[in-house]
Amino acid sequence: TQRVFSGIQPSGGLTLGNYLGALKRFAQSQNSGVQSIYCMVDLHAITVWQDPAALTRNTRELCAGFIASGIDPERSILFNQSGVPEHAQLAWIFNCVARMGWMKRMTQWKDKAGKNSENASLGLFAYPALMAADILIYHATHVPVGEDQKQHLELTRDIAIKFNNDFGVDFFPITEPVIEGAATRVMSLRDGTKKMSKSDPSDMSRINMTDDADAIALKIRKARTDPDPLPETLDGLNDRPEARNLVNIYAALADITPEQVIAEHAGQQFGTFKPSLADLAVAKLSPISTEMARLMDDPTEIDRILAGGVERAREIAAPVLKRTYEIVGMVGS
Ligand code: ATP
Ligand code: MG
Repeated sequence: TQRVFSGIQPSGGLTLGNYLGALKRFAQSQNSGVQSIYCMVDLHAITVWQDPAALTRNTRELCAGFIASGIDPERSILFNQSGVPEHAQLAWIFNCVARMGWMKRMTQWKDKAGKNSENASLGLFAYPALMAADILIYHATHVPVGEDQKQHLELTRDIAIKFNNDFGVDFFPITEPVIEGAATRVMSLRDGTKKMSKSDPSDMSRINMTDDADAIALKIRKARTDPDPLPETLDGLNDRPEARNLVNIYAALADITPEQVIAEHAGQQFGTFKPSLADLAVAKLSPISTEMARLMDDPTEIDRILAGGVERAREIAAPVLKRTYEIVGMVGS
């Protein structure tokens, strides 16, 4: 049977990248009838410093973002990672299965640790083992993510394969990454070669889900572009990462293909295209930010939803951890 799992870090406010690469797709897949589990991965967020009060707020706001994007907390399970201790417990087992060399090759580790990796947290290095635990503790078969998480999902498969091999079992499933759509990699508005991130120090590099109409219009107007008009065909976007990014964002927001965007806007200058894109973005995002703000007015409802999600998630996770401990040979499991 199929089961979907995905997580988002409360490491800042949600961005348009998180919306198009994750939330919007989660909402769209909701009618497939497959059980879906979505996690606010607070344990992942603290692999880099988080102010405690901000972490609490960001976790609640992230949950509000899921609901405002159309994910029904009754049909899907919405919860925060630290509430289900089985994630961290299974992650420890996986720390002992995964190899140092595997972790060192992860581009997210290299990007986030930067030049001074001696000073990065041990948790940041082990991040992919915790992510493998997030997925495999539910025996999830499908993991919808953005393009940036592809390498971590391959590592999740490697961990499942090695665990099954080491212990001579067929216990953990080999998960399938689900990376599809026009915007699986939304790029920074300031640099078309870098992905848009909630942790980017420049606020102008991203559109936040909480930005108002003026902020969205300003950021799109100031977005870096080249001086040429939009091309006549999609091929004309080759070697034009900034232009391609804006076309992809337009396509994903409008639920059309990049080809259709080009067909409709061929030959336009950015002075014309950018305001259309800004109008579209405001029309699609403002109902979501309004609903997020309403939910955040009184977080009681959010906390209730997360607590309910924790309970439902634990029911699935606890027996899997118990069986894992038995396989490994822990007395009393
Ligand atoms: P951080 O900068 O703290 O890593 P982030 O913006 O990368 O934050 P994550 O919580 O790491 O967000 O990722 C949550 C989900 O959003 C993942 O599925 C990830 O692949 C997706 N995602 C993140 N950034 C983008 C992006 N620019 N385009 C498309 N999907 C994205
Ligand atoms: Mg990230």
